[in-house]
Amino acid sequence: MSKKNTILIVDDEPDIVNLTERFLQLDSFKILTCSNGKEAIKIVEDKYKEIALILCDIMMPGLSGFEVLRSIRSKEDYKNIRVVLFTVKSFEEDIEKGKELGADGYITKPFSGNELRDYIKKVLNK
Ligand SMILES: [Mg+2]
Repeated sequence: MSKKNTILIVDDEPDIVNLTERFLQLDSFKILTCSNGKEAIKIVEDKYKEIALILCDIMMPGLSGFEVLRSIRSKEDYKNIRVVLFTVKSFEEDIEKGKELGADGYITKPFSGNELRDYIKKVLNK
């Protein structure tokens, strides 16, 4: 992997952020984290050249994951950033909506560490 090896984790639940960060660090990714969409968009503005993938919760106070995704997909500079939505729901309508907005995949909570690591690597290699 080139220098674009940063993953941004966005979730309003600190336990999910911590757990996810610990799993993904095993694969030597550099991890950035935040707890809301507004902060996520600010981090992407500053660091988009380093960010390979954003793992973003859908259900958050303030901006939802869909709104974050829409904002990311509206900028040409960010077109190579993969976005994986993180959700407790695996509703078909969420999956459809995410696809329409340009999501690269889904992780449904709860998840296992190995599942998460394999899935993220798969999306990055697409
Ligand atoms: Mg949430």
